[in-house]
Amino acid sequence: MAEAEIPDDHPRHDSLVTRHRIEDGVDEGITSRQGLIAQGRGEAFDYLLGERTLPSADDAARAAAAHLLLAEHPVVSVNGNAAALVPTELVALAAAVDADLEVNLFNRTEDRVTAIAEYLRDHGATDVKGLRADARLPNLDHERAKVDADGIADADVVLVPLEDGDRASALAALGKVEIVIDLNPLSRSARVADVPVVDNILRAVPAITAHARDLADADRETLTRIVDDFDAEATLAAAERVIRSGDLESD
Ligand code: ATP
Repeated sequence: MAEAEIPDDHPRHDSLVTRHRIEDGVDEGITSRQGLIAQGRGEAFDYLLGERTLPSADDAARAAAAHLLLAEHPVVSVNGNAAALVPTELVALAAAVDADLEVNLFNRTEDRVTAIAEYLRDHGATDVKGLRADARLPNLDHERAKVDADGIADADVVLVPLEDGDRASALAALGKVEIVIDLNPLSRSARVADVPVVDNILRAVPAITAHARDLADADRETLTRIVDDFDAEATLAAAERVIRSGDLESD
């Protein structure tokens, strides 16, 4: 079944759409083969969370939007899975919060960076960072440490969807506010994040954008209150509780 043929009310709609996009991403040289494995892992957690946005994840999306709006220099990091799954939505989010988009890969190859940047431009991005890779994150091996000096290296708030644990820790150690989208509430990335959004990237990115639009006219005091009221530990615990309960409809 092609993506366009999957009925909206199909019980496994999101899961089938996701598989198609990741497969196409691999075929187009955007997503690495490792990305297929990450996708499988994510899908298992999504199943256990009931394939929906928990109220705690929606609160996290709102806190993420508030952080991005408060930031001096927000950057949305894009890897091969994120680009394959939500290219238009990432471009819309970056526009809504005035953030840079930076291609930032775990398995970095110049070909893949270029292909992803091109793909984002095809989906409406005007300026894509990540090609220069003229700065390094500390405590990571050479390839995984590469970032742009005027992008992630200079950012005060970074959104890293589906980041691996080592790099998420390296970013956190630099004192940047880190927003992570990850379906696994036990992953190291989710645990080091200031704001872990435990939800499928398919739902999380549009949710953050919707909150950002809703908060576009909010004053700094309101945004700061949303950020201060957010409790990362409680968010992770809420998602873990749903998974462990085995009840796909509980909150
Ligand atoms: P960590 O080191 O943080 O514990 P990891 O490096 O082992 O995690 P990977 O194997 O790289 O993690 O997997 C990437 C993560 O992305 C997994 O935790 C998975 O649940 C999550 N993930 C995969 N697909 C999606 C998706 N569509 N939306 C949200 N999260 C996803």
